Amino acid sequence: MKRPAALEALSEALTRLPGIGAVTSERLAYHLLSVPKTEALLLADAIRRAREEILLCSRCGNLDHVDPCGICEDPERDRGIVLVVEGPREVLSFEAAGFRGLYHVLHGRIAPLEGVQEKDLEIQKLIDRVKASGYREICLAMAPDLEGEATADWLRQALSETQTSITRIARGIPAGASITQVQKSILADALEGRRGMS
Ligand SMILES: [Zn+2]
Repeated sequence: MKRPAALEALSEALTRLPGIGAVTSERLAYHLLSVPKTEALLLADAIRRAREEILLCSRCGNLDHVDPCGICEDPERDRGIVLVVEGPREVLSFEAAGFRGLYHVLHGRIAPLEGVQEKDLEIQKLIDRVKASGYREICLAMAPDLEGEATADWLRQALSETQTSITRIARGIPAGASITQVQKSILADALEGRRGMS
């Protein structure tokens, strides 16, 4: 007997999520069909609500209920410094660590082995932003691993023509650690100890 088409479609949709292979997606699909219908639909509603209510900030790429986001519109923040991060989750981490400037979210990092190139990231938007706004400092806050460093190097070169000071967070963060998993005191130190890239 063939599996019902709707079950195939659910399993197939789950496979497209990051870190979900064929075995896990099948298990999840059967799980969603075995729990009470209301519970399964709660997940569907949460996805729909998040996608409908949460917007991508057209200035910095952060996620919020409004565009421009609350951070971009906050008059209390230091508008001379922009922290460049890989994703919106990193914004939350640096907020918790006490950063009070502006952000630019790349939505990824250069990773040739995974097929992610410069053009796939919000890099041109960053360059345009820097040229238009005359920031005092751009701090590159990618994680200190191979791809994070490669992305930082690439950005440093791309931004060199803008005459803005380019800095990199200090290396107190353990190599290979994700920014979102590092203690906020370590992130605060890494920010405090940031240095110019030559
Ligand atoms: Zn924003």
